Amino acid sequence: AERLTGRTALVTGSSRGMGRAAAIRLAQEGALVAVHYNRDEAAAREVVTSVEKDGGRAFAVRTELGVDGDVAGLFAVLEEDLLERTGSTDLHILVNNAGVMGGVSADEVTPEQFDRIFAVNAKAPFFLIQRALRNMPDGGRIINISSGLTRFANPDEIAYAMSKGALEQLALHFAKALGPRGITINSVAPGITRNGNPVFDIPEAVEHMAGLSAFGRVGEPEDVADVVAFLATDEARWITGSFVDATGGTLLG
Ligand code: NDP
Repeated sequence: AERLTGRTALVTGSSRGMGRAAAIRLAQEGALVAVHYNRDEAAAREVVTSVEKDGGRAFAVRTELGVDGDVAGLFAVLEEDLLERTGSTDLHILVNNAGVMGGVSADEVTPEQFDRIFAVNAKAPFFLIQRALRNMPDGGRIINISSGLTRFANPDEIAYAMSKGALEQLALHFAKALGPRGITINSVAPGITRNGNPVFDIPEAVEHMAGLSAFGRVGEPEDVADVVAFLATDEARWITGSFVDATGGTLLG
């Protein structure tokens, strides 16, 4: 049976990658899903179409995160879309998935690059939560996509890992504040997960990355989306403030 019928969800950065997979998965469970994206409108539309073909409900919302007015702009449009489709502005599920990688080593990262990484990966999720809580009924769900790199050393991604470390703090402190409302908030940490990065087209690179997982393969977007979907259901009501390791065993060492 569908576990999210009657719920609404916003998944940031769901035009591709694991955000896309999470949007599709939540819609399969019956949620009406806002497919948020930044640049790639065609990709976001494709996600909506694929949800609809499957008998689900979704719509696309564009906003660049990490710039002034981002959250207010997103919610202005989102509230209109929700009202039109459901007769209410309730938002039950927020998945903070949009994120940018650093890809620059610690000796080269500039203050501007550092600020951008923090603006998208940590600051935007904080203010999205602050704003979403005005629309979130009791029993709501907040899921933040962190990274195994908060616990697995990679000197080339220090600024990125710092931003995800900051993101993880949200689950700890908000969990305590939101418990009385039955709202849970958790961090999901993926390991290496297939996305549009050309590195996944290089067999030797994939073989190396696969070796980091206990299962001997790289993660697929659906591997993480299933974890996100579970946390969004009532069945996950007793889990809050958690760090959920979705790295396929990469953190086992
Ligand atoms: P992708 O890089 O494939 O997609 C990123 C998504 O985020 C796109 O939908 C993109 O929209 C959106 N986005 C990026 N920057 C912004 C912005 N400034 N404003 C609005 N939207 C934005 O994502 P992945 O699936 O690889 O990663 C998803 C999350 O998982 C990220 O938080 C990432 O840090 C994390 N993660 C990824 C890992 C991996 O191996 N892939 C490992 C561990 C964590 P558009 O394309 O329309 O611009």
